[in-house]
Amino acid sequence: MRPTKYVEKRSDLTLLKETFELTGATCHRTRLKCGCEVRQGADNNRDGVLVVKYDTVVLEIIRCKGCAKKRP
Ligand SMILES: [Zn+2]
Repeated sequence: MRPTKYVEKRSDLTLLKETFELTGATCHRTRLKCGCEVRQGADNNRDGVLVVKYDTVVLEIIRCKGCAKKRP
């Protein structure tokens, strides 16, 4: 599985995106499914960023409050 990083705030997402872009990576804002448990009936699509380097996704960043607290 590719590495995933969890953040709590939209601004953290933007900050990380900009940081990785400075290292030469390409970042794409997208909706990503978080692997954590959700209330029944709710989907678990979240704001995310894919960090791409050399045509490979090297990191997924997902904005999920619960996961950010559990696995910072
Ligand atoms: Zn989650």
